[in-house]
Amino acid sequence: MREFNPWYMALKHLDEVAEKINLDPNIHNILKKPKRILTVSIPIRMDDGRIEVFTGFRVQHNITRGPAKGGIRYHPQVTLDEIKALAMLMTWKCAVVGIPYGGAKGGIICDPKRLSSGEIERLTRRYISEIISIIGPEKDIPAPDINTNPQIMAWIMDTYSMDKGYSVPGVVTGKPISIGGSLGRNTATARGVMFALMNTIKKLNLNFSQQKIAIQGFGNVGGNLARILQKENCKIIAVSDIKGGIYNPKGLDCFKVSEALEKTGSVTGFNNGEQITNKELLSLNCDILVPAAIENQITKENADKVRAKIIIEAANAPITPEADKILNEKGIFIVPDILANAGGVTVSYFEWVQGLQSYFWTEREVNLKLRDIMEKAFENVWRISQERKVDMRMAAYILAVSRVAEATRIRGLYP
Ligand code: GLU
Repeated sequence: MREFNPWYMALKHLDEVAEKINLDPNIHNILKKPKRILTVSIPIRMDDGRIEVFTGFRVQHNITRGPAKGGIRYHPQVTLDEIKALAMLMTWKCAVVGIPYGGAKGGIICDPKRLSSGEIERLTRRYISEIISIIGPEKDIPAPDINTNPQIMAWIMDTYSMDKGYSVPGVVTGKPISIGGSLGRNTATARGVMFALMNTIKKLNLNFSQQKIAIQGFGNVGGNLARILQKENCKIIAVSDIKGGIYNPKGLDCFKVSEALEKTGSVTGFNNGEQITNKELLSLNCDILVPAAIENQITKENADKVRAKIIIEAANAPITPEADKILNEKGIFIVPDILANAGGVTVSYFEWVQGLQSYFWTEREVNLKLRDIMEKAFENVWRISQERKVDMRMAAYILAVSRVAEATRIRGLYP
């Protein structure tokens, strides 16, 4: 189905902005295509002695403004089209916040919940050795994404470094602190989402503490966001994970929800609230809805039921283009993914810079620099949306695509 094909969605957004800014058709043609696609077979020995062969991808969409950058996800539903789309989103995301990277994404089709830690390590190391010729601190720098974490980044750093014969911290970001990770990286995406949310509230002249917030997803982004917002005295009325959600109109204690998740394996193990489904969460009576899980959550089937006034896209591509249209017609203010969740890659950039210089910053410095970048990007996108009378997504795309197009034009075509 085309509506759910993320690559079709990504191209659709690009075509719309191309028309809006009268993009040179030659540059449009270049930007429509990923620069490089690598599909690899990854044979690994399972714990029971069998050999299983997994499929992995690494896609580099664009490297005009700097090395390719983007996470790696482990998920049973990974497809090449999804990875191509997410690589393109990374190009725009880095351009929106003005960090000197292009866009990439990687993925392995697997269900990490059914793999042991040893199997995940062997899968990671073999995948990296299969894509080793196209990654590197000046070429393409992976990072965490869905179901990948600092430990996996450490194995990536080690595999690459063993191949080179010396330690290369700059090859990957999201590493543990002990091997050159950055303070603040783990919570950076959530913190960036919080800045996007605060700026929105300021621009729309709303009161921060009166907003009722619902968050779909309680992983690195949703979970950290819920806890950060609670510390800022926000009212989180619902959260969810893959197994379902929990709702309390009086507000949830998200630290207790985290404890319940730790103990029972799901936020639904928290008993001070009503059990709801992920679908129900999206149509709750709330002020701000934060989809922080996976793609295609708000579609033309359920867009009409959304009651929030503001949506902050913490996940990548949670709203289909058809749903986007419906939500815009309803007057819902949407902060798009390429702006809202750019905090993660921004602190990845800080980690890479710190690693290249072997000079490390305090968490306060990291968070202040992150805030500067997020606020400047938000301001730029807001200004374009006001000047050109377009929604925030179109404004963010105008900024991003114009920056990449200008870099492409000025570099010229080789040979
Ligand atoms: N996976 C994250 C994203 O989608 C972070 C990418 C990075 O840090 O390179 O933005």
